[in-house]
Amino acid sequence: MTNVTKIGVVGAGQMGAGIAHVFALAGHDIVIHDIDENNIQQGIAGIETNMGRQVSKDVITDDEKNAAMARIGAAPKFEDLSDCDLVIEAATENIEIKKDIFRRLSALLKPEGIIATNTSSISITALAAVTDRPEKFVGLHFMNPVPLMKLVEVIRGIATSNETFEICRDLIDKLGKTMALSEDFPGFIVNRILMPMINEAIYTLYEGVGTVEAIDTGMRLGANHPMGPLQLADFIGLDTCLAIMQVLYDGLADSKYRPCPLLVKYVEAGWLGRKTGRGFYDYSGEIPVATR
Ligand code: NAD
Repeated sequence: MTNVTKIGVVGAGQMGAGIAHVFALAGHDIVIHDIDENNIQQGIAGIETNMGRQVSKDVITDDEKNAAMARIGAAPKFEDLSDCDLVIEAATENIEIKKDIFRRLSALLKPEGIIATNTSSISITALAAVTDRPEKFVGLHFMNPVPLMKLVEVIRGIATSNETFEICRDLIDKLGKTMALSEDFPGFIVNRILMPMINEAIYTLYEGVGTVEAIDTGMRLGANHPMGPLQLADFIGLDTCLAIMQVLYDGLADSKYRPCPLLVKYVEAGWLGRKTGRGFYDYSGEIPVATR
């Protein structure tokens, strides 16, 4: 079985940075690539801040932080990924962007290298089909924020081999996380259930049933959710939420998955949630302020 020492991460956004963070702490050598070089530096700086927070909370020691940070490197050129044992893609939730990454990766990654995608909803089988190694391709769906969330949803494409699956199961065990195995259908398990709930919360706002605060308070205190659905949507990223709803709507061909027009409007406006400073809440001040 392939020994996974060096891991490449493609996409240095909130998920890519989180994935690099946990694997570096688990002792792997990490290289991070992004189409935008500034995002690589920002991603690495964000990891340092988040590990610093873990040190101050006594979750890790200062030495563990320094050793993990020393294992993380930038890969400004795509070719820098060629000798990785595993490459995990965490780029924008868009099938064409992901297919293009996997085509280019197939051409340069060493033959025994495994390819994983952190997609929230897109068919693993369809993404694997553009590679030269569908048997070495798998869905590893980490949750946000990666260092805190215990679950990794594992999705086997139709061609994913048992060996690839076992290597991934072992990696997840060593991260101290728990696996949930999902079949390869739109949205898998978590987003098939979570995203229609978030979309319905946006409809509830759109139809004037409640304000942002009333909806979030209702679900926090009334359903015991740790975060309200609109707060969670902002946290995930509204572009990602819309992309997932579109995959559910197209893939399951059922009108119950139609994205709420208000979600579409926010994405058109560039109000993508916390990552852009505004979504259902405004994040420019100390405390997030509801916008509706
Ligand atoms: P993000 O917008 O924070 O980051 C995406 C990054 O990908 C950006 O830095 C962007 O520059 C980069 N990118 C875009 N095109 C690229 C390319 N061709 N090559 C290299 N890099 C490229 O998004 P995110 O929230 O980190 O989501 C990334 C992936 O993780 C998506 O597939 C998303 O569905 C999935 N995911 C997100 C969450 C969440 O809560 N946000 C949870 C689980 C999975």
